[in-house]
Amino acid sequence: MEIKKTRIIATIGPASNTEETLTKMVKSGVNLIRLNFSHGDHKSHKELIRLVRSVSKKTNILVSIIQDLSGPKIRIGDFNKEKINLKKGSFFTLTTKECIGDEFIVFVNYSSLPKEVKKGSFILLDDGKKKLKVVSVSGDKIKCKVIVGGEIKGRRGVNIPGAYLEISSLTKKDKKDLIFGIEQDVDYIALSFVRKPSDILELRKILKNKNSKADIIAKVETHEAIENLDEIISVTDAVMVARGDLAVEMPPEDVPALQKKIVRKCNKVGKPVIVATQMLESMIKSPVPTRAEVSDVANSILDGADAVMLSEETAMGDYPVEVISLMSKVAVKTEVGYSERGILPKEECDLSKGVVDSISDSIVKIAREIDAKVIVALTESGFTARMISRHKPLQPIVVMTPKRKTAGKIILSFDCFPFIVRPFKQVSDVMEEVRSFVIKNKYAKKGDKIIIAAGVPFGKVGGTNMIMVQIV
Ligand code: PGA
Ligand code: MN
Repeated sequence: MEIKKTRIIATIGPASNTEETLTKMVKSGVNLIRLNFSHGDHKSHKELIRLVRSVSKKTNILVSIIQDLSGPKIRIGDFNKEKINLKKGSFFTLTTKECIGDEFIVFVNYSSLPKEVKKGSFILLDDGKKKLKVVSVSGDKIKCKVIVGGEIKGRRGVNIPGAYLEISSLTKKDKKDLIFGIEQDVDYIALSFVRKPSDILELRKILKNKNSKADIIAKVETHEAIENLDEIISVTDAVMVARGDLAVEMPPEDVPALQKKIVRKCNKVGKPVIVATQMLESMIKSPVPTRAEVSDVANSILDGADAVMLSEETAMGDYPVEVISLMSKVAVKTEVGYSERGILPKEECDLSKGVVDSISDSIVKIAREIDAKVIVALTESGFTARMISRHKPLQPIVVMTPKRKTAGKIILSFDCFPFIVRPFKQVSDVMEEVRSFVIKNKYAKKGDKIIIAAGVPFGKVGGTNMIMVQIV
């Protein structure tokens, strides 16, 4: 089988938390595991992290860890029974005073909500499946009329499309979870419900204070994040198109075009971008996906996604291994035709970067013209590799780095295959290692041309300035 270039992120949960299943999933193409901190406690997450690392070690396949912080997700409280029926046309009250809910009233966990909605506002519940219209607000109570009803369970999400909420993007719980994630040395921290660049900067400050090298994934899932998209992309390390909430906060018909726009913007600056949610939703219960889902995975890759993500499919579904195999197969098939796209048009590149853009463009172009078999990026921070990867070259990018952390993070970038080498000062120090590595791993055979890219002097971040052609 061809080597898959697109990265697969799988959310771990009850359906995938055994060594046997996880091993099969990893062997079928999982590159990163997402731990969803909206569920579970630190003890259970610690156990999962241990399991992922042990599977990675035993299979000798690099698997990185994403800690997904819940963020300021507004939720209703519990009901006095498993579910209640919201009747269309009836009145239903949300209160910020803790109580056990029923057909008439339920608790909502955001104390400022009554101040931030007014008569006529719409409130959506349960991933937007139920719709309420505010009739009146008094004290802690928001009286609503049910516009779209149905059965609803407790603890479901609440969205207020179009609102500018004051709620802080890093909640108390997130901060505690974050400290735990830093202690566990996770590779990525995903921040939910990002609204403005300062949300990312606040997180970045904590990471810096705690000496953490984890990278940040901004989950774009609010209308405010869309309004501040460029600024958010410029301060984050990576982006997730979080279509689940995005399609509730924004009209769902806007999401496909937004996905393309976000992916393009990220490709342009070489920041990894993930397309997430409901990619193979029907495979939660069925061994085969719908045609539309297969097309969605393929089209997301064609848009330029570095990674595609599975949520409930692998966390709670009946086919956690099959869904990964299927996704891998779709990726490999799609990438074959995809490679024709080659280099991003010149005007798509951020010219302000000058040397880096010019060098990374040229590497991809030369590699194609001389029929090089592999591009080897020697990098400390991963920057050189990301700048090449954004062009989606025909050749695999072998990322040789002395930093284990860089290897763990670069795995999120399209077509990048990390390999840890001993610390080096000059290209000549590692030439022999490069040659034997590419031959041993069948990236090239004796007599083939390879391209080596680097930023010299080594250790200086952001300076890709060297291209070297070698015959192995
Ligand atoms: P979630 O994020 O699964 O944590 O809600 C992804 C999304 O909203 O699409
Ligand atoms: Mn979400």
